[in-house]
Order: sequence, then structure tokens, then C-alpha cells
Amino acid sequence: MRGVTCSWWCEHAWLPTGPAVSVRIEAGADGVITAVQVGAEPAPGDHLLQGMVMPGFANTHSHAFHRALRGRTQLDGGTFWTWRDRMYALADRLDPDTFRELATAVYAEMVLSGITCVGEFHYLHHGPGGARYGDPNAMGEALRDAAHAAGLRLTLLDTCYLTGGIDVPLAGVQRRFDDGDAESWADRVSMMCDDDTFRVAAAVHSVRAVPADQLDVVVEAAIGEDGMPRPVHVHLSEQPAENAACLAAYGCTPTQLLAAHGVLGSATTAVHATHVTAGDIVLLGESRTTVCVCPTTERDLADGIGPARALADAGSAIALGTDQHVMVDMFAESRGLEMNERLRSGQRGRFSLAELVDALAPAGHAALGWPAGGRLEVGGLADLVAVRLDTLRTAGALAGQIPLVAAGGDVDTVIIGGRLVVSGGQHALLEGVGRSDIAGRMVRAVAGAWNTSPSS
Ligand SMILES: [Zn+2]
Repeated sequence: MRGVTCSWWCEHAWLPTGPAVSVRIEAGADGVITAVQVGAEPAPGDHLLQGMVMPGFANTHSHAFHRALRGRTQLDGGTFWTWRDRMYALADRLDPDTFRELATAVYAEMVLSGITCVGEFHYLHHGPGGARYGDPNAMGEALRDAAHAAGLRLTLLDTCYLTGGIDVPLAGVQRRFDDGDAESWADRVSMMCDDDTFRVAAAVHSVRAVPADQLDVVVEAAIGEDGMPRPVHVHLSEQPAENAACLAAYGCTPTQLLAAHGVLGSATTAVHATHVTAGDIVLLGESRTTVCVCPTTERDLADGIGPARALADAGSAIALGTDQHVMVDMFAESRGLEMNERLRSGQRGRFSLAELVDALAPAGHAALGWPAGGRLEVGGLADLVAVRLDTLRTAGALAGQIPLVAAGGDVDTVIIGGRLVVSGGQHALLEGVGRSDIAGRMVRAVAGAWNTSPSS
């Protein structure tokens, strides 16, 4: 891990016990917190962090390239499936270079909003028609490059994607997702290596995309060299059509199918779980499967509101993701979790503030294979996000209620593994540029992704 022994004095800090005032945090050269002291005076050499210092946010579910669809799919209504047609048109055009440029801008946008760790649910593996690149992991390596450039941690959820629907072969652009079978997928993934800020893990696209007998192979391949399961993520029951297809083919719900093939468990994250039955909720909770909800995407795509409170009560940890990036703001995701519940139940406070912060930081880190992340405590990763209390959005709010009012644009400083990545709202690694420069980079990257001029 980069970085040197460092210390910070925080005006306010959100500790595992809740918000605290005048907090000193020290970290070693390995980027791990070595001391946390509450009610302390600043010491010589401390970096002063004004506002509320939160643990770094984990964006548990991302498809980086979907960022190029923002503001380009909103006319004429449409459905999840018409949105997917646009997404496929985009996927058809990307190559490792345009993918790297786009992902770099997207990850920079994430870091500027306080995201210090991202789970990239990655299935765009191969070239047009399924042709292999010289390095069969060229697209995954482009994501590694992008994360390094933007300065955040990345768990590559390399995704097994074998069929276009249950018993439906992949066609057209979907051929780019195809490894042939789960064994070949596992062989390709095994060629990638972890580094200090990059981890390789597994995903099953969905029960639509991986035949039941291949699920066992994925689960087997996700066992690490230490015998411990690595994270496995899976899209689950985002749309009622998936449930209907699974019921018709297998006579059970997608959750039941995953349970029968050993996919569920504490190392597994089910993404969305929007249309699950009461029995599914029990299976997910009792197996300690994490559920990642993506409220801004689920409302944008008219997916529906999942039973997040019931899933949490059943035993599932709740994590959050910006998914297709209609916006990149983890505060909006965490508030969406609570606000959806308020609209449904007619009650406020369905999730406590402590639960919302858990979803923002430690739950997502654990789901992405960074169990030391998301907690400002000794032994935790020195990933710090300072949120301003003097912006128009936050001014006058009590520091202890900041997660309920702040937005990503209120993030002033981001430290990842003890290293300064954002300072004064400026990205410190990408040549010290500000938000407007990252926006310009995004315009060029989106145009490059669509293979058009930036103005069109
Ligand atoms: Zn997704």
C-alpha cells in the first residue's frame, strides 16, 4: 500500500459508535488506522479535516460503461428492456481503449463524491462477435488501469454470462460476454492477479444467463487458495419476467434455484432482490446473503421497490450501488433505501441512521472482500471522506444528521489508504483537476464510447 505514516484531526468523525467531535486518526505506512482518539486537540503535523469525516463509501454495484447512457435514454418512456437495447448498442462499440477512458472518468466521478471502493460487475469480456483479445482479460485490465488512475479500490466482479435467457443462446452483441462455459470462464478469470487496491472476484450475471448446472462450477471456482469463498455477486429478481422464466424452466424461484446450487451464503451478494417472495426472503436472510439495493437505478428503470426492511430483519446485510449511474451519489442511494420504505409504510425512520451508514460503508466493503474497510477504528482502512457542513445543502444541519441531507457534491477531501486523492473538491491524482475538468473528460469519454464527436 502506498502512503506514509499520517495523522488527521477531524472536526467531526463518524465512528462505529456514531458521530464524535474532535477526533484524531493516525495511520501507518500500510494505510491502516493505528489510533483513534476522541476529544483530542490537533497535534503538530496533523492534517486538519473540517466538516464531518465519514468512512469511505463502498459502491457495491457498478457497470461503469452504463454511465454513457445517462441523459440518453429518458425520452419516449420505454421499459427496462428498451433501456437494455440502448445499453447493448453502446456495448457493441466499446474497445479496451474507449472502455478505459470512460471508466477512468466514471471512477473519478465516484471518488469526487466520496466513493473509495467500487464493485465492478463486469461482463463485457471479449471483442466484437466474441473474438478474443490478445490478452483475454484486456477489458478487465482496462478497468484495473482506470481504478489506479482514479485512485480508488476496485473489486472486479468478473461475470459469468453464458445464455441470453434460459435455454436461449447468446446472440449479437451478447457474444462479447460469452466464455463458452463456466470452466472456460474460470480459466480466464484465474489469469488475473490481485494487487494492493484491486481484487478479483466472481459474479453470476443472473439465472437467465447461467444454466443451473453451471452455477456449481462458478461456486467451486470462487473458493480462494486459502479455502475461503471469495465474493460472488448475482443479479436477482430485478424484473418479474425473470421470475416467470425461472418458474417455467425450473419450477422454482430464482432465489430457490441459487440456494439449491449453493450460491447463497455470507460471501454472496444478491443485487436488487426486488421481486422476491416471503420464502425467498427467509432463504436470503438465513444464509446471511448480503442484498445490494440500487434505489436510483431501480426507480429510473421502473423496477419497483424491493422489501429491504424485511430482508434486513431476516438477517441480510444491506449494501448499496449506483449500478447504471443515472446519478453517482451514495447519499442519494442510502436515502433512497429509507425514503422508499417511508413511501410504502407511511412511517419515518424505517432504517436507523446507523443502519444507513452501515449500508454506505462497512456492509459494502465486506461484500466486496475488503472486511477492514468502512470503519474508522484501529485496524480499519484509512479511507476518509470529509463532507462540508457549510454548503447551501448542509448549512444549519446538525452534524449528526448530515447523511440525511448531504449530497456527493458536498465532499471536500477524500483519503484512500492514507493517500490524498481529493482535496478541496479537486481530484489530486488526475493532474490536480477540478470537477469541471473531470466533466470535460467525461464528455470526451462518452463521445469516444459512442464513437461520435463530443457535441453530438
Ligand atoms: Zn447490474
